[in-house]
Amino acid sequence: MRNVAVFGATGSIGGSTLDVIARHPQRFRASVLAAHRASEALAALCERFVPDLAIIADPALEADLRARLTRAGLATRVASGPEALAEAAASSLCDTVVAAIVGAAGLESTLAAARAGKRLLLANKEAIVMAGPLLLAALREGGGELLPVDSEHNALFQALPPAAATRREALAASGVRKLILTASGGPFRGRTRAELAGITPEQAVAHPNWRMGRKISVDSATLMNKGLEVIEAHFLFDAAPDAIDVVVHPQSIVHSLVEYADGSVLAQLGNPDMRTALAYGLAWPERVDAGVPPLDLVALARLDFQPPDLDTFRCLALAYAALRRGGTAPAVLNAANEVAVAAFLDGQLPFLAIAEIIEACLDKIPAEPVTDLAQLIQTDLTARAAAQRMMRRLHC
Ligand code: NAD
Ligand code: MG
Repeated sequence: MRNVAVFGATGSIGGSTLDVIARHPQRFRASVLAAHRASEALAALCERFVPDLAIIADPALEADLRARLTRAGLATRVASGPEALAEAAASSLCDTVVAAIVGAAGLESTLAAARAGKRLLLANKEAIVMAGPLLLAALREGGGELLPVDSEHNALFQALPPAAATRREALAASGVRKLILTASGGPFRGRTRAELAGITPEQAVAHPNWRMGRKISVDSATLMNKGLEVIEAHFLFDAAPDAIDVVVHPQSIVHSLVEYADGSVLAQLGNPDMRTALAYGLAWPERVDAGVPPLDLVALARLDFQPPDLDTFRCLALAYAALRRGGTAPAVLNAANEVAVAAFLDGQLPFLAIAEIIEACLDKIPAEPVTDLAQLIQTDLTARAAAQRMMRRLHC
């Protein structure tokens, strides 16, 4: 029986995780559930899954959550605050942690799970983008295992030889030439820059193939999601920037591909449903039913591939640039993006200005070699403040 802590339980990935867990009560148990402020939704999940511990990240809502659980007659303990997340990630309450908090807020609990040697199902790509070298060091120190559940990286993990997927062996030694990430292209694929000028938040979050949280949906619309994923692939599989390609594939059926020296290309295919990757991570190295309907190739009939438009969707080019610059540059990219996307979702910033703000922050803040968590938290704060200043100057 795996005891699973689900951080971000009330979100899109959290919901898909709990759906898989509920299908296999003899294998998996949700022992810790955590959310940010959605105390009512978290209480409802506690009634259904009866975890040992429920964490509400905002301490102002701890009393509210406790009252709800008491009214429901549950013995589930309640904790609050970011420290409670890191503490639970490292505790004996769980052997598996699903890192599905959105943004930099997930970093410390992700690091804590890695350091404690847990099985870490990583959805929170912002954590590895910000702090790749620290996360890898924490994994080495803890001796646990990272199972990528971002669908592209899960596909790569499946298509790579096990020794390369888990970094026991260099990619070149496994005969790998390229990692090819697929991108749906988002809701604005094929549009020109001029056509993107008046995009509203509601248009940006309407993804054609995936139902996701609002922040990652905007990232998909700008192609920053793919940019973050290029950086994620670099750290996960120790791949040089030039060995990571992006191809647009509007149907989101081929989740990513590995090209080998002999000309073979191995891909992982499936319906666009995150439960496949989550079930893979939970059950690995076994396979279990994820509730995902079988892929009907004949009904699909065709799969299309196109090059990404880096001039219109500049965020992808900016992410490659930050990766090449290295050090703290990806943390700057991530923080500026979080601030700009939040402002866009708030109606405070035009869609096209998201890339402008990020580019200006990358130009302004010099990259330094990564040393420790305190430095990265400081970099994150510096970049957020710079992004706010630039937004005031440019647009707000
Ligand atoms: P979401 O917005 O639906 O859910 C986010 C969850 O994080 C919620 O449960 C929320 O309560 C919690 N949260 C937010 N801020 C927090 C904080 N400060 N402290 C504690 N908890 C906090 O987002 P999502 O779509 O589920 O995405 C979650 C993560 O997974 C993101 O990093 C995203 O990039 C990644 N991801 C998502 C998908 C997808 O299909 N949704 C696919 C791949 C990767
Ligand atoms: Mg993805």
